[in-house]
Parts: sequence; structure tokens; C-alpha cells
Amino acid sequence: MSTLIDGKAQATRLREEIGRQVSRLRQHELVTPGLAVILVGEDPASQVYVRNKATQAREAGMSSFEYRLADSVPQTKLLDLIERLNRDPEVHGILVQLPLPPQVDESRVIQAIHPDKDIDGFHPINVGNIATGGHGMAPCTPLGCLMLLKHQLGDLSGKHAVVLGRSNIVGKPMASLLLQKHCTVTVAHSRTRQLEEVCCQADILVAAAGRTRLVKGDWIKPGATVIDVGINRIEADGRMRLVGDVDFDSAREVAGALTPVPGGVGPMTIACLLLNTLEATCRQHRIPFPDNIMSLAWGGTSSETT
Ligand code: NDP
Repeated sequence: MSTLIDGKAQATRLREEIGRQVSRLRQHELVTPGLAVILVGEDPASQVYVRNKATQAREAGMSSFEYRLADSVPQTKLLDLIERLNRDPEVHGILVQLPLPPQVDESRVIQAIHPDKDIDGFHPINVGNIATGGHGMAPCTPLGCLMLLKHQLGDLSGKHAVVLGRSNIVGKPMASLLLQKHCTVTVAHSRTRQLEEVCCQADILVAAAGRTRLVKGDWIKPGATVIDVGINRIEADGRMRLVGDVDFDSAREVAGALTPVPGGVGPMTIACLLLNTLEATCRQHRIPFPDNIMSLAWGGTSSETT
């Protein structure tokens, strides 16, 4: 039976430490980290995500600014708002909740956010910095996965990591981060042949395909560490439930360690958003990023960065 990787507990510890650092910044530097969240349209899942992000930012002592725009908003109006927030000294991080309606060009919007305020890590400058091993803002979900892995395994060097999924927001940056930690990385996707055999070779398997219970127990190498990023809504016993991309029951018999859904990657994603906001604030005010946060985030290896 595998160890359960408790993302909820780890995220709580990280958020508490972020809260302590925010209060230190407010007292000693007279700076309050500010997070601006923009939601376009009425998608119910996006509304929940935005609400959770704003609530947790406030609980950590940050200022939270929420902007809700109609589904029909013209692109120019959204770009004007981003431009205004780029110049606003009280806003250190800007997040535009995806997906966006069809009249808005997602890449234009992402590129409009100043890279220093791009706490989602989607701007091409940040993507490039992460891909070339430099210091950029890493996307929150892969960053959270990496922290869970570091906490669980310590040194990742030489391990074979298989990333299932190649999206710009999860799969590709996850692969870049694992390469930075000296893993041998295979990226699999919908055209990959013999997917099961590829997965079976993984010491670390990160499942981010968005397919309900795609990965079965017999796709997993005994003792492997499995990170389940998937969030799939299914109906069971007349109720909506969240399940991952990994078939939890069969995987649990084989994996060495496994994240549950919910309670695994999801909470770490929001904690990392707060971490990126804190880091963006420190950078914009030229304040050193606190060592103890790094140590907590990376499971005791205090000098590590992303
Ligand atoms: P995308 O749909 O953008 O990408 C899915 C990827 O999986 C694609 O690269 C696709 O391949 C690949 N894929 C799809 N089906 C298969 C298959 N049958 N076999 C192999 N590969 C397959 O999804 P995201 O990356 O945005 O998200 C992935 C999952 O993670 C979703 O469930 C999402 O809800 C969840 N998520 C969770 C977060 C969290 O905080 N926990 C945050 C973000 C996402 P191809 O490129 O060939 O189409």
C-alpha cells in the first residue's frame, strides 16, 4: 500500500509561513503584497477557483483586487485593465483566469501582463527563463508538483520522470522543471505509442491528461511516485465527485507514494500562487526573498530555487 502524499497539509504549512512573511513585510517594509484576479464570464468552475484564490490571498494578509467582466467584454477593454494594473504600485501579481471567451486572444492577454507581475508564469519571458534554466516565475501547478516531489523524495537527480500531457500550463513547464532537477524526462501525449509501457518505466509519473482514471495500477512501476494533476468531474451515486487521471484504488496497490484527488496537487497550486505573489512583491521592492520560505517550500533544502 502506497504512502499518501498530503498536499493539503503541505499547502497549509506553506500558506501559514507565507502569512508570517506577509505580516513581516507589512510591519517592517510597509509593503502589502497585492494580488489582482480577473475573471471573464460566468463559468462556474472558474468562479470557484477565483473565489478560493482571492480568499486565501486575504487570509495570508495580502490585498486582493477582484475584477469580474462580462463574457462579451471586448478584448481592448481587458487589455486596458491589464495595462492599468501593470502600472498600479499596489498590485504585485496579476492573474487572468483561463479559459477566455472566443473574441479574446489568450496569448495577447498573457503577453500584456508585465513579466514581473505574471504570477501564473505564462508570459513567454518567464516560460523562456524556466526552459533555459534561468530564474523565472514558474507556473503554479507544476511548481506545486515539484515541491511535493522534492518533499517526498529529496534529490530527484537521475530519476526517470514521465510527464503525461504536454499543455503549456502543466505538461511542458513540468518537464522543464524536472529537467532542471536533473531527471531524465519523457513527455507523453495523445499520440504516444505504447503509453502503458512508457508509463511503466517511470520512477516519477506526473499524470496531467485530463482523462478520468486513465492510468491504471498496472501502468505503474512498483514503488514509483505518482503525482495526479487531473481534476475530472464525474457523477457517482447521484452526486458530483472529483477524480483524478489515475485510478486511485489500483494505483495505491503498486505505487510507492501517490497524491489523492482532491487533497493533492490542487491545494499546492493555490499556495504556489501566493508564493509567486510574495516573490513578485519582494522582487519589485528589491527585498531579499526569505530563506525560511524556500526551506519550507523545498522540504528542508534551504538554498534551492526553482
Ligand atoms: P490539456 O487538455 O490542455 O492537456 C491535456 C494533455 O494530455 C494534452 O497534451 C493531451 O495530448 C494529453 N492527453 C489527453 N488525452 C490523452 C490520452 N488518452 N493519452 C495520452 N495523453 C493524453 O489539459 P491541462 O494540461 O490544462 O490539464 C490537465 C489536467 O490537469 C486536467 O484534468 C485539468 O483539470 C487538471 N489541472 C489541475 C490543476 C490543479 O491545480 N490540480 C491545474 C491545472 C490543470 P495532446 O497534446 O496530444 O492533445
